[in-house]
Amino acid sequence: MNTDKRKVVLIGTGMVGMSFAYALVNQGGICNELVLIDVNKERANGEAMDLNHGLAFAKSNMRIYAGDYHDCKDADIIVIAAGVAQKEGESRLDLLQRNTEVFRSIITPVVKSGFDGIFLVATNPVDIMTRVTYELSRFGASRVIGTGTSLDTARLRYLLGDYFTVDPKNIHAYVIGEHGDSEFVPLSQVMLATKPVLTILEDDRNNYCRKDMERIEEQVRTAAYKIIEAKRATYYGIGMALARIVKAILGDENSVLTVSAKLCGEYGERHVFIGVPTIIGRNGVKEIVELDLTDEEKEKFSKSVQLLDEYFEGLKL
Ligand code: NAD
Repeated sequence: MNTDKRKVVLIGTGMVGMSFAYALVNQGGICNELVLIDVNKERANGEAMDLNHGLAFAKSNMRIYAGDYHDCKDADIIVIAAGVAQKEGESRLDLLQRNTEVFRSIITPVVKSGFDGIFLVATNPVDIMTRVTYELSRFGASRVIGTGTSLDTARLRYLLGDYFTVDPKNIHAYVIGEHGDSEFVPLSQVMLATKPVLTILEDDRNNYCRKDMERIEEQVRTAAYKIIEAKRATYYGIGMALARIVKAILGDENSVLTVSAKLCGEYGERHVFIGVPTIIGRNGVKEIVELDLTDEEKEKFSKSVQLLDEYFEGLKL
C-alpha cells in the first residue's frame, strides 16, 4: 500500500491558482493528489480536465480532480488563491472586507471537514488575508502561512545576481515586511557568498554604488505594477513561489523562505502576520529567523507592522 500520500487542495482556480497547479504538474514529485475547488464549479472541472490531459507528458503521475469541501478532510495543505477583484471606486478596505467574506465561505467548510493540515494563502493583500485565515480557522500560528515576500525576495536575488554577475543562488538577501508598498530590503543583511554587500560597495567604488541598490529595491517594489500594466495580472511567478513553499512543507526541508508568518515577540512585535525569513518544514513554521537589523531598518519594519495592524483593525471579522 502506498502510504506516501501527499494531498493538496487548491481553492480558487483562477490565474494564480492554476499557475501553481501547472507548476506542480510540471515539476513533478511534489504531491500525488491535487483537488481543485472553485465557486465556479464548471471552471474547476474544465481546469482538471485540461491538466489531466497533459499528465502523459509530466514527470510523475498525479491524481487531479475537481472536488468539494469534503475532500479537505485528509489533505496535507490547503492553498487559497480565491478572491474577488477591486471594483471601480472601491477602497482597499472595502475590497478587503469583501475578500474576508469570501474567506469566511471557504475557511468555515474547510475546518468543518475535519482538515488538520496547513493553510497556505496567496490572496491579496496576502498578510492580512493570512491573518484573517488564522482568526477564522483558530489553527495554531505555525500552521497558517502566507506567500508573504517570497516572490519579492526571488525577484531581488535575481536582480542582485544580474548586477554583480553572480548566480542568484549565491546571493543571500531578503525582502521583508508587508507584501506591498512598505516592504523593504535590509541592506545590512545582504551577502554575496559570505561577504556583506555593503563591504563590496565600499571596496569597489569604481564598479558598484549604493544608488544602484536603491534602484534595485525600487524595481522589486514596483515589479507587480509594471507587470499588471503590461499584461493585467501577475501569476506565473507567484504560482512558482506557491509550489516552492508546498515542496518545502511536504519535503520537510527546513528551508528558509520569506513567508508571511505570525510574529510572537520576534522583532519586538506580536499578532501581526508579515513577510520574514522563516524556517519551513513538515509542520509549517518551525522558527522565524530574527535578523540583526540596524536602527533605520527596525524603524521601516515597525512602520510596515503598524500599517498592517491598522488595516486589520479596520476589518469586521
Ligand atoms: P482570478 O480572478 O483569476 O481568480 C480568482 C478565483 O477565485 C476565480 O476562479 C473565482 O471564481 C474564485 N473565487 C472567488 N470567490 C470564491 C469563493 N467564495 N470560493 C471559491 N473560489 C472563489 O484572480 P487571480 O489572478 O488568480 O488572483 C487571485 C488572488 O491572488 C488575488 O487576490 C490576487 O491579488 C492574488 N495575487 C497574489 C500575489 C502574491 O504575491 N501573493 C501575486 C499575484 C496575485
